Amino acid sequence: MLGSNVPTIGGLPKGFECADKWGCECIQIYLTLSRRWDVPILSEKEIFEFKNAWRKSKVKEVVAHLPYLVNLASSDSDLYIKAGNRLIAELDRARKMGVSFIVAHPGSHRGAGVKTGIKRSVNVLNMALASTSNTLTKILLETMSGQGTEIGSSFEQLAEIMGLVKQPERFGVCFDTCHVFAAGYDVSSYKGYEKTMEQLDKIIGMKNVAAFHLNDSKEDLGSYIDRHASIGEGYLGLECFHAIVGEPRFSDIPKILEIPERDEKSQQNLGLLRNLQTLTRKEVSHDQQTKRIHRRSKIRRLF
Ligand SMILES: [Zn+2]
Repeated sequence: MLGSNVPTIGGLPKGFECADKWGCECIQIYLTLSRRWDVPILSEKEIFEFKNAWRKSKVKEVVAHLPYLVNLASSDSDLYIKAGNRLIAELDRARKMGVSFIVAHPGSHRGAGVKTGIKRSVNVLNMALASTSNTLTKILLETMSGQGTEIGSSFEQLAEIMGLVKQPERFGVCFDTCHVFAAGYDVSSYKGYEKTMEQLDKIIGMKNVAAFHLNDSKEDLGSYIDRHASIGEGYLGLECFHAIVGEPRFSDIPKILEIPERDEKSQQNLGLLRNLQTLTRKEVSHDQQTKRIHRRSKIRRLF
């Protein structure tokens, strides 16, 4: 299923209006105000309105994303406690709203080192699990670009976290195409994509992949810089997107766009991804080889 992150200005139910306009089968939203620490109690009315708008829309799956101010590996004790409390509050909201997945960045160690960062992240995740035993919402650890001191930029690091948490069945992985590429996994060709997926399966297990973020990258392979681009407008090209949207084993998994010009371009990017599903590998890769994507008629129609 294909979708996008959507704006929710004017209230969470507004996200579904945008979703239907753009043709999203799944959406990603923030459940709380992403730049504020206080989380108001959700009223019964708000829950009803959200569920009602969802029911009336064509959206099958809603994926939540933890706000960026939450650093699960923070070495600042105040921010670390706030991060843990926020994760609990978000999981509680997700449960009440019927949201099955919440994407979380494993955190940034801010100079304390990857080992310490992973330990901190695991501790706070375990604390949140213990306080939310009544929720079925899964925490999806996102594959990160490794920008700054981010942890989770290698499959090994994510596997380590998932091996240390107390209830691994409450976790999954969100595979971000831009991030993995920036972190050094060359998914810009079918060959590289397949090799990366083999590694992912071996180290994390394909069954744990519960969501995709489909983003092209404005930066090159191994840049460790997190800069998203519209599909086909970055260094990734089209092959990996064609491969992902064409894999039957991923058909029921939410695949979410997070592109910079979201409000102007998500609808068109979704159309492009859907059209890609009608092409063969030969058609797409020949095009990549010639580097004349926009000139070749079959591909040009996609943009
Ligand atoms: Zn993210």
